Amino acid sequence: MNQFRFSRRPDIGDNIHVSFEFFPPKNDEMEARLWQTVKRLEPLRPKFVSVTYGAGGSTRERTARTVGRILSETALMPAVHLTCIDATCETVDEVIRQFVDLGVTRFVALRGDPSAGVGTQYRPHPGGYANGADMVAALKRHGDFDISVSAYPEKHPESPDFATDIDMLKRKVDNGATRAITQFFFDNDIYERYVERVRRAGIYIPIVPGILPVHNIAQVANFSARAGAHVPAWLAERFEGLENDPQTHALVASAVAAEQVLDLVERGVGDFHFYTMNRADLAFAICHMIGIRAHDAAQAPSSAAA
Ligand code: FAD
Repeated sequence: MNQFRFSRRPDIGDNIHVSFEFFPPKNDEMEARLWQTVKRLEPLRPKFVSVTYGAGGSTRERTARTVGRILSETALMPAVHLTCIDATCETVDEVIRQFVDLGVTRFVALRGDPSAGVGTQYRPHPGGYANGADMVAALKRHGDFDISVSAYPEKHPESPDFATDIDMLKRKVDNGATRAITQFFFDNDIYERYVERVRRAGIYIPIVPGILPVHNIAQVANFSARAGAHVPAWLAERFEGLENDPQTHALVASAVAAEQVLDLVERGVGDFHFYTMNRADLAFAICHMIGIRAHDAAQAPSSAAA
């Protein structure tokens, strides 16, 4: 049982680092919820928090406003997601300069999904950057930033095979990527096999697992199909019949994510990126289970021991 193995290693939280992903809110209500989430997760001292960027720059102002608030109102280190889809190189360069002027030094460099929808034919903008690797190179021309990129343990849906997919990751690393954050997955064997393939290809940057706490199984199933991640039958079964029972759904989601993360810890993984969906509770609970304590709470055991 994971929890018994885990309980014999009380120091484990010291060796684990987390980051949290948020999306820019669309209205005042969503903004209020995001800030409750940010304030609740801030004391866990994540390595960074990232803010997504709508494909085609659709959230450019909102992403900038969110990042500006994080910089001015918290001690958190923000990382800005940037995409190149439907934009000229000049526009992307201008956006990079704006974020640098705000004080941003971390980026997540992405291509983005076609604006006609996931699964439609991707065509690079004729005067734009073509892919994630181009985006890393563009960022590097502006400064020596910390640059994360995407990685796909089940391969990106547009990649014909793993070799093509991992070749793109290699190009991103050769251009200066610091770490890769994976698309979410629910089967840790898939992640482990992917990391083995990546290492065999001579890629040695951290491949940080992206963890998606299941706030809504129906949404996850729908999104998974488009993202090229599969929902195992056992996972769907765990949530069966809980559609109208949010409390039990949340308890099961917490158990499922904790089980996944604890198993990854047992496999030697030390960094985790949480797709929070702007909600704190599941991410907070899972962090607690892997030994990460809020700053104030972290003082208690040592003073008690003293
Ligand atoms: P790339 O890394 O450029 O390519 C992805 C894969 O497509 C490659 O592995 C490659 O095999 C294949 N490919 C690309 N070009 C070619 C080619 N010419 N020939 C053959 N194969 C090719 N989307 C957003 O809109 N905003 C976000 O903020 C955002 N954040 C994300 C964060 C993470 C951690 C992840 C994993 C994804 C995120 N996405 C986001 C989704 C992402 O934009 C989509 O998955 C998109 O389809 C691919 O972008 P990419 O940067 O991964 O592409």
